[in-house]
Amino acid sequence: MQNLNAISSSDSLTASYHATLAQIQDVAERAGRTPDDITLIVVTKTQPIEAIKHLYKLGHRHFGENRVAEASTKIDMLLGQLRSNSIPPIWHMIGHIQSRKARTCASLFTHIHSVDSLKLANRLSRFSSDHGTTASVLLQCNVSGEHTKSGFAATNTATNTSQWSDLASSISQMAELPNLNIVGLMTMAPISNNPETSRPIFRNLRLLRDQITQHFPQLPMKHLSMGMSADYKVAIQEGATMLRIGTSIFDHRHTKQ
Ligand SMILES: *Cc1c(COP(=O)(O)O)cnc(C)c1O
Repeated sequence: MQNLNAISSSDSLTASYHATLAQIQDVAERAGRTPDDITLIVVTKTQPIEAIKHLYKLGHRHFGENRVAEASTKIDMLLGQLRSNSIPPIWHMIGHIQSRKARTCASLFTHIHSVDSLKLANRLSRFSSDHGTTASVLLQCNVSGEHTKSGFAATNTATNTSQWSDLASSISQMAELPNLNIVGLMTMAPISNNPETSRPIFRNLRLLRDQITQHFPQLPMKHLSMGMSADYKVAIQEGATMLRIGTSIFDHRHTKQ
């Protein structure tokens, strides 16, 4: 019985993974976008190593975690189980990073979406230099203004000149840091039953990216990390290049017995 359950559960994971990829392609094409410009990051927090390995074997490479300690265990375990000549998975840190975890974070992740202060950027730069690596980072922006959200204050950067100059000053300092490439912006929309409530948040993140690119043409600000299970289709329509999706890929575990 257990084997049967394991098989049906991995079959349904395969199916929901492929269904998600198909949805992304469909929405992208309808929006006039190239699906290749959009990276699906499968968010594997709380998921067992077997599920990650299963997706890896299907050819998936981009995975996201939100806690350094949990990620550390899983990243090591997965590496230990892959053949030594395998292409390593690409790990994205998407959760809030405490200062004291910055060193471990820099050693585990090549992509860090949750850089929310100049201080954290400084630490990540220093630790990446120590490791001889370069981190690709995204600046987490609080576009919605919710107090519970971390990120650079960015509710009104188009018209609030003091908010814009604070952000611009942080960016110009971060742009000088060694072993750190700023590759884009990340945001989270408020939780809602209606994906349309995310649209203005995502649109404003894109406009902010354009504003930053205008002032800092030397920065390769290509990426917009936005869109989760509930609102990724809207995010694609608004220009997302990285989607962070967990629940809608793994949820079959809860809905099927
Ligand atoms: C958990 C998480 C996600 C994925 O959310 P789902 O609703 O499970 O798709 C995306 N981004 C961040 C920062 C998360 O913590």
